[in-house]
Amino acid sequence: MRFPIKAKLTIATLIPLSVAIFICWLTGVFILNSKIASQAQDKVRNDLNSAREIYLNEISHIRDVVKFTATAPYTADALAKGKTGDIASILTPLKTAEKLDLFMALDATGKVLYRTNNPAASGDDRSKSLFVARALKGEIVTGTSIIPPAEMVVEGAELARRATIGVVPTPRARSAEESVERAGMMLIAAAPVRDRAGNIVGILVGGVLLNNNNALVDKIKNIVYEGVQSGGKDVGSATIFLGDLRIATNVLNSGGKRAVGTRLSEEVYNRVILRKEKWIDGAFVVNNWYFTAYEPILSLEGVPIGCLYVGMLEKPYTAIKFKLGFIFSGVLLLGGMIGFSVSGYISTRLARPIRELENMARRVASGERNVQIRVHTRDEIGDLAGQFNEMTRTLMQREEDIRELNRDLEQKVQQRTAELEEKNLLLVKTRQELVRAEKLAAIGELAAGVAHEINNPMAIIRGNTELLQMSVPPDADNREEVDTIFQQTGRVERIVANLLRFARQERRHLGSVSVNGLLREIVSQVGHQVPLAGIDIREEYAAPMPEIEGDGDQLRQVFTNLVINAVQAMPSGGELTICTETDAGDCMITVADTGSGIAPENLEQIFNPFFTTKTGGTGLGLSVSYGIVRDHGGRIEVRSEPDKGSVFRVVLPV
Ligand code: ADP
Repeated sequence: MRFPIKAKLTIATLIPLSVAIFICWLTGVFILNSKIASQAQDKVRNDLNSAREIYLNEISHIRDVVKFTATAPYTADALAKGKTGDIASILTPLKTAEKLDLFMALDATGKVLYRTNNPAASGDDRSKSLFVARALKGEIVTGTSIIPPAEMVVEGAELARRATIGVVPTPRARSAEESVERAGMMLIAAAPVRDRAGNIVGILVGGVLLNNNNALVDKIKNIVYEGVQSGGKDVGSATIFLGDLRIATNVLNSGGKRAVGTRLSEEVYNRVILRKEKWIDGAFVVNNWYFTAYEPILSLEGVPIGCLYVGMLEKPYTAIKFKLGFIFSGVLLLGGMIGFSVSGYISTRLARPIRELENMARRVASGERNVQIRVHTRDEIGDLAGQFNEMTRTLMQREEDIRELNRDLEQKVQQRTAELEEKNLLLVKTRQELVRAEKLAAIGELAAGVAHEINNPMAIIRGNTELLQMSVPPDADNREEVDTIFQQTGRVERIVANLLRFARQERRHLGSVSVNGLLREIVSQVGHQVPLAGIDIREEYAAPMPEIEGDGDQLRQVFTNLVINAVQAMPSGGELTICTETDAGDCMITVADTGSGIAPENLEQIFNPFFTTKTGGTGLGLSVSYGIVRDHGGRIEVRSEPDKGSVFRVVLPV
């Protein structure tokens, strides 16, 4: 299976990228979760401080009211005199104005002088109460206290009724659990009342009931959480517990009502009420998870009698957590996608030169040569491309060398072939000459024999014909026939002489021959042998002309033959050119005419003995000349064109 390098590179970058993104995501989500949770929890811890301040503020308020009322001179007077009417007129309007739930005056022994809630009940001794005892000693005492149900009834039927809380039954039953809580939890302040002499004449006790005191918890909630809502619900909540029972709260139950009468979880109860420690952690409150903070509320004796709670719903923070987690995941995903694209891009860029290399290699393999890779990366691929280009260059150079060698070889083969053909031609020519020479030798031998045999009878005929001529007078009737016999006898003798010459029966007499002189002599005498009428003779002799070694008579016969043939080829006149030249130790004699020329088919035969186109010709002239020139180590060449003329050239070595 093919697995492209681009995919490999992409995977090689993607795997670490994915692992990094995954680790990043895990860490990020973990940090987000824990940070948000700890931040929220820290906020709730601070919120608890604020709640405590508000709680203490409420106590301060009662303290202030009680203290200022106690220090008023008319209060001391009223208490000293024990006039309940006067006391009532001081306390009652203040109780209403300052929203106290309890306001009463006691005498210097701790007996109740006047109860604003229950004026009828008085005279009972409250000196055992720590508040009263300490106030009687001159201290302004403030704190939280639980008023037992029996006392609550004495303090006032209305107050007792307001303090009554129906306990919501829970599966977690504790000992002595009642369905109704009638004890009242109150913020109390007690201050001594002094006369002008500074003697304590009594004390004033003021208080605010915490049972069902929605105002206080709502105040805490509003100040601390500023009414922030999430999904239609208040995010923050505050609660005051009497023991483990919610007596004032703005935590709502599933019915949307304040969850008054429900109980604290056992875990929190154990920590806060039993061990007097703070609880700052997540907790399940009524019907939701909250970030919570609880701290114990201590009685004047330092005993935990309840606790103060603030909490924030976890849900909005969970939503924020999800939202942030979602954004974070989205950012990582986007980063991952960008990483993917970048890695894809880089892989493509890295793979491109490799693909180009492959492409080029394929082109080179298919025979293309002038290919150069344009890869300039400064890495191994760049080096490879450079090597590839170098390789292609070397390959081209080698191929060019081979082609060059081939061309040389072909040229040499052609040259050798041409030489061979030339040699072949020479061989054919030589063989033809050999054949001709053999033929000539055979003819010569025959002719010599015949001529020898004819010579003697011809001498007798000629002698007898001369005797006959002498005996027949010139004007006799048959004298013409006798003359004809004489002439024809002469002709036969000439033929025989030619034959003998042809058969080389004649011996050569070698000597120095002046070719130019020989030619001049022939031209001056040829007129005796052929008529020269209408013939224009031009002589062009080379000077100086070296003398050649040869037989003068035989050479004369050769040139005479050529001149006579030329003149005979121009029966109606023309130009006869005779010229000589020397060249590299050779002597060249040219005889040219402007006569009838030789037909191409005859050109091959003119040197054969007995070939003639003339009536009365012997056909021996050229064949005899050929033999003489060859015997002198020379050659005869001929060029001819019908109706234009012929050029015969004799080449003789000096
Ligand atoms: P002959 O002159 O007796 O015919 P040659 O051997 O001298 O014998 O010549 C052979 C033939 O060559 C001639 O018959 C003629 O046809 C031809 N020939 C030779 N020289 C010439 C020339 N100059 N022009 C034309 N034909 C020529």
